[in-house]
Amino acid sequence: MPKPTEPAIFDGHNDALLKLFKNGGLANADQFTKGYDAALDLPKARAGGFGGGFFAVYVPSPVDLEHKFIEMTKSQYDLPLPDAIPAGEALPVVMHQAAILFALEAQGTLRVCRSAADIRAALKAGQLAAIFHIEGAEGISEDLHTLDVLYQAGLRSLGPVWSRPTIFGNGVPFRFPSTGDIGTGLTDAGKRLVRRCNELRVMVDLSHLNEAGFWEVAKLSDAPLVATHSNAHAHSPHARNLTDRQLDAIRDSDGMVGLNFAVAFLREDGKMQSDVPLSQMMRHLDHMIERMGEDRVGLGSDYDGATVPKGLDTVADLPNLREAMAAHGYDAPLIAKLCHENWLRVLEKTWGE
Ligand SMILES: [Zn+2]
Repeated sequence: MPKPTEPAIFDGHNDALLKLFKNGGLANADQFTKGYDAALDLPKARAGGFGGGFFAVYVPSPVDLEHKFIEMTKSQYDLPLPDAIPAGEALPVVMHQAAILFALEAQGTLRVCRSAADIRAALKAGQLAAIFHIEGAEGISEDLHTLDVLYQAGLRSLGPVWSRPTIFGNGVPFRFPSTGDIGTGLTDAGKRLVRRCNELRVMVDLSHLNEAGFWEVAKLSDAPLVATHSNAHAHSPHARNLTDRQLDAIRDSDGMVGLNFAVAFLREDGKMQSDVPLSQMMRHLDHMIERMGEDRVGLGSDYDGATVPKGLDTVADLPNLREAMAAHGYDAPLIAKLCHENWLRVLEKTWGE
């Protein structure tokens, strides 16, 4: 029997724009449309039933990734965070990656969605649905004028920090084992950013915030709490994962969490090694469903930004995940919720349309 390519998977995080930025940038953006050496491109999305998701704009630090990945194969690690990036350096990178996104839209490769209705229409038409998301607000000025302009361009979601510090707050380092309770949270500018996001109805992503920042957003924000790509600390005690208390707060706000496929956040031992059985992903899903209910869990793959389990190497392999969910005993309505319906529910509530 062929493996299931439906329901469409719409997920909380991918780094396709970063990958394209590093591989020739805007001039080479059509490699995404034709297919290239990436976990996510259009032909692979069609093959695996990947309907779209949050396309992150991310400003890379000059760090040695190879060194980072070697450190993360050890049984304990605590990687120093790179230095903050000034807005003047970050903004051109944000503009370049956003330009790639809009170039792909102009080619007809994807649709930049500004409402849940847009996403529904794109999924129905078989068109790749993209949310313009910023992971780490380095490009946003303290007066928030850049935020207002980016919103007009289509920005609908942002994380105040990727893990390194910004003028808005502090994130979690890549530390194992550890909780995310490390350092101070939002700055005053960060609190203003959250309030302005609420006014604009831009989603605030909690995934890379530390615990102090998490609880400050929980107190301040009038929107459902959302972590786009994080896992259960109970099954992988990594600083990037969410404790039961955090999952309970997300449930109480009627928000959701997208399951991150990054192996270091899935494995009990926190190691960046890809021999992870899909049953380990089911453990995280079971735990999050138990804490938050069937309506508050989805996917947040991190494709092209992380080492993922063998057997789920690219979006073309997503039928293996649907098959594993069915074999695990999830029924069709639950699989549909996990694949995209819960994201649509929470986005509609956050954006109001
Ligand atoms: Zn991330």
